[in-house]
This record gives sequence, structure tokens and C-alpha cells, in this order.
Amino acid sequence: MVRHTPLGRAAALLALAASGVVAAFATIAPAPQAELALAKTTVREVLPVDAEASLIAPPASYVREERFRRGDTLAAFLARLGIADAHIERLLRLQPLRLLSPGTDVIAKLSPEGSPFEISFLAGRDTLFWIAPQGERFVVGEDRAPLETIAAVKSSSIRSSLFAATDDAGIPDAIAIQLAEVFGGDIDFHRDLRQGDRFSVVYEMHMLAGRPVRAGRLLAAEFVNRGRSFRAVHFAGADGKGGYYTPEGKSLRKAFLRSPLELSRVSSGFGMRVHPILRKWRAHRGIDYAAPTGTRVRSVGDGVVEFAGARGGYGNMVILRHHGQYSTVYAHLSRIARGTVRGARVAQGDAIGFVGQTGWATGPHLHYEFRVAGEARNPLSVAMPAARPVALQEMATFRRHAEPLAARLDLLAGSRLALLE
Ligand SMILES: [Zn+2]
Repeated sequence: MVRHTPLGRAAALLALAASGVVAAFATIAPAPQAELALAKTTVREVLPVDAEASLIAPPASYVREERFRRGDTLAAFLARLGIADAHIERLLRLQPLRLLSPGTDVIAKLSPEGSPFEISFLAGRDTLFWIAPQGERFVVGEDRAPLETIAAVKSSSIRSSLFAATDDAGIPDAIAIQLAEVFGGDIDFHRDLRQGDRFSVVYEMHMLAGRPVRAGRLLAAEFVNRGRSFRAVHFAGADGKGGYYTPEGKSLRKAFLRSPLELSRVSSGFGMRVHPILRKWRAHRGIDYAAPTGTRVRSVGDGVVEFAGARGGYGNMVILRHHGQYSTVYAHLSRIARGTVRGARVAQGDAIGFVGQTGWATGPHLHYEFRVAGEARNPLSVAMPAARPVALQEMATFRRHAEPLAARLDLLAGSRLALLE
């Protein structure tokens, strides 16, 4: 009888890793903050197993892992897992298996004849389902998955787009998007990136038995854009509200985002690939962003809707009024977001419409204007106020928290330079 402890399953997962490769783990660097009790950097080496050693005795059981794919039937999938036909029919009726979603990795511990000792998989965020034989039937159970959180540390550089660079380094999309959000007040990720820009990230990775399950928060980052270095550290003050600050404690949140386009895998690649209608600022009084129809357009700052509707060559257009003398214009939209009506309040980052080519437009793009007292201005030339820095009475706490994270970024910058030399 198999014991159903989470650790038993964790051991099975590790046995799986050992069946093909040996994973070696080494812990370096201390945890960056108290809240991340398990934070460590994991370095994994993959070594081939000695083929002859595995021939000594046939195992009494073995572990198989397969991914349930779109288009798989459950019966065909269970057969692929190595489960004998005699058991498949009974398993087909079990509820958790019938709810398997594509992309889920399923682990089966089997006898050499294909009788399952245990089948398990992760569902939802942290639920580990298991199925095990009991007499003539199968029983089903669920546990909270024993997830462990580590701080992953990675660096990469831009060759074509942000997502190509994060793919190169094995950085999850969720972290790429957080990176773009954190520096969104300083860098326009659709227009400002250049070949040779580089970045480092420290982020939470939730692990199950030494394997990554999903990414958590970005903890610290550095982005070097056209030779200028920007750094961010996540910090939650006494009020519990988390935010990103420079290692000196200045807020990275700005009154206006640099780009009105939401960054996505599709929109980032699109802008990088083609610039069909980019024109000089001087002649044009605005910025054109080439992007696929339907890309979300977001409010660059908190404000109130002054106009939302169709207007001549601008097509579907939204004008937002912000504090002071500032207003912003978004034109050629395929459609305006629900709730974006005259007088409505919008917060920075809210979707107000979607890219299109209504009005005088030769292709799908967003025409964006930044106006000061009604005059179109280059947003780059306007100094933007930032949000409040870390409170003075919290500065000591902040420093203790930020210093080890900044040290890691220094270490990464150093190792990168060493590689270049
Ligand atoms: Zn334009």
C-alpha cells in the first residue's frame, strides 16, 4: 500500500528526475528578506546516469510523466502513461481525471506490468490530486501541494524583442510583463529598446519537489536601456501596500506611463518587426505605434474621459484629461472599451480601447498624442513628477531589505562584464 503523504509524492517526483538524469542542487547566497524564508538560488547540473548501473536489478516500480495535450482522449493518454488496458476503463470514470486540462503534467508510479500504484497531478494553484488502488477499486484524494519558494536570478540581453530575450534566459512571460510594468514609467518597451540593452531579474519561483511550477513576484530588477541603468526593488511598507522603488528609496511609479500600449508577446514582436507608418515627431505632432488590431490601449495616467467617439480622420478616438494641464489622445481605435464614456474616471493602466485603423489610417496602429495646455508635445521633453518615495520612518527597514537585493544585481552586472571580456 502506498502512503499518501505529500512528501511521498515529492519523493516520487524526485525519483522521476533520477530515472533519466541526476539533478544536483547547490544553495548560494543568503535569503534576501525575512518574508522569503526559503529563498535561495538553485543551480542545477544535469549529468547522464551510468547506463550499466541501471541494469543491475529490475525495479519493482517505475515512475512515468506525460503531459495531457489538447486533442488527447483520456484513454489514449492513460495508455501513453504506460497504464495497462485492464485498469484504464476503471480510471476513465474518475472525476479528477475527467477534469484534466491540457498542459497538465501527470505522474504515474507503475508496476512493470502497468498497474498503477499512484497517479498524481497538480490542479488549480496548489492542489495536488492523487489516485491510488485500494482493494479492487481506486480511491481519490487531494492535498495542498508542498510548494517551496525560491528566488530565481537571471540575466539576458535584447537582440530582437523583450520576449525573445526572456525566452533565451528561460524567464517566464509573467516576469517579462512585470518587468515592463515596473519600468513602464521610464522605458517605452515598444519603442525604446535597442539591441544590446540588458537586464537582470530576481523573482519568486514556486517549486514542487525541485521543479518550477509557476512564477511569483518580481523582487528586484535592473534594466540597462541605451546605456542608462534603471533599478527596482519591491518593498511593502507598514501600510502593506507593495511597490517598486529605486535602491535609494525613490518610487518608480510615475504620473504617466511611457507607452499607451499594453505589452504582450504579440504587440512587442509586431512593433519590432515593422515600422510602416512611423513619422518624425516634428511633422506629425504625435507618436504612431504599429500593433495588431485588438491590442489593448491603456490610459497612461489617472484622469477623466473628456471625449470618446468618432472624429473625422482620427476615427474612433478617446481624449483623457489628467491633473494639471495634461491631456492624452488615442486614435484610430477599432473600438472603445466599455465604460469609457465622457465624464468617466480612469486609473493609470486601465484599458480604454483597442488598436484598429478607423479614420485615416493605412494599417492598424495607435496614434497617440501627449498634450500640455491643449498643445501636442513630445512626452520625452516633459519632466514627469514621480509618486511618493519610501517614508522617512521606514527608510531603515527599506535599506536592510534593499541592500542584499541590490548586491545581487551588482553581482549579476559584474558576472556579465566578466563574460564580455
Ligand atoms: Zn499618427
